[in-house]
Amino acid sequence: MITFAIGLKNRFRGITVREGMLFEGPAGWAEWSPFLDYDDAASVSWLRAAREAAFDGWPAPVRSVVPVNCTVPAIGPEKAAAIVRASGCSTAKVKVAEPGQTLKDDLERLEAVRDAIGSGQVRIDANGAWSVDEALQALKELARFDLEYVEQPCASVEDLAAVRRRTDVLVAADESIRRAEDPLLVKKLEAADIAVLKVQPIGGVRACLDIAEQIGLPVVVSSALETSVGIAAGVALAAALPELPYACGLATVSMFTSEVVAEPLLPIDGFLPVNRLEPDPVLLAAATADQATTAKWAARLARVEALKGSTG
Ligand SMILES: [Mg+2]
Repeated sequence: MITFAIGLKNRFRGITVREGMLFEGPAGWAEWSPFLDYDDAASVSWLRAAREAAFDGWPAPVRSVVPVNCTVPAIGPEKAAAIVRASGCSTAKVKVAEPGQTLKDDLERLEAVRDAIGSGQVRIDANGAWSVDEALQALKELARFDLEYVEQPCASVEDLAAVRRRTDVLVAADESIRRAEDPLLVKKLEAADIAVLKVQPIGGVRACLDIAEQIGLPVVVSSALETSVGIAAGVALAAALPELPYACGLATVSMFTSEVVAEPLLPIDGFLPVNRLEPDPVLLAAATADQATTAKWAARLARVEALKGSTG
């Protein structure tokens, strides 16, 4: 059991260092890395996912590679285009509606990305930042870039449904599923065309497969900014889904300054291989956190294990 602390090339979700734990079980290596703003109760599902990886393993894959998108943060148009070209991916996910950014900034970034990706796909993610009216106004302007879909345009499921009724752009639900008390409300309110699923917050590959079946929507598997060990669980989910019509958001290890495996899960021509991964001892030692961080995570794990024990 080791605690890791790995730097990020750019600030993401307000953090510059990604922390978490890695451990090995009979089925292989597992990652447990709930973000620090998740409380103990919210971290139980993340522990279920890690337990599944370590002790149960994952369902058999039905494909050997998984298509992935590159992610373009809220940066200027030239940098955005450079990220797309360097990625080799034919699908780009562009962050929009970020704090401090105007719709004009988003338009310029989208234009550069659309240009760089040519005949590929461009999707946007607003992380719930728009009101219904803002979303409709923005989509009217951004639709000319031939959007594949808009992810979480508004925060609430009700608002998501309202936007979906009034736009031709497909709507994907992300936070509305993984942070919701009832992930199936999206289905009941017909609030989305696509479901974004993340293995750790939802509680494992099998838990995600269950939701995918119940929700009855095409699935895009995305990461929670894990190391390659954690990303492998997302790849296992994407590889096990009966249908995979969209590229997945699993090409995120490039955001780290270092890694724990010798061959990180970086896309080759827009695809990730479906493999179980083992940390490299030298890289693992280099990524190991200091004593204070290790103690903090050990205490956190003990509390969440106790909670998990009481909730089953
Ligand atoms: Mg999202």
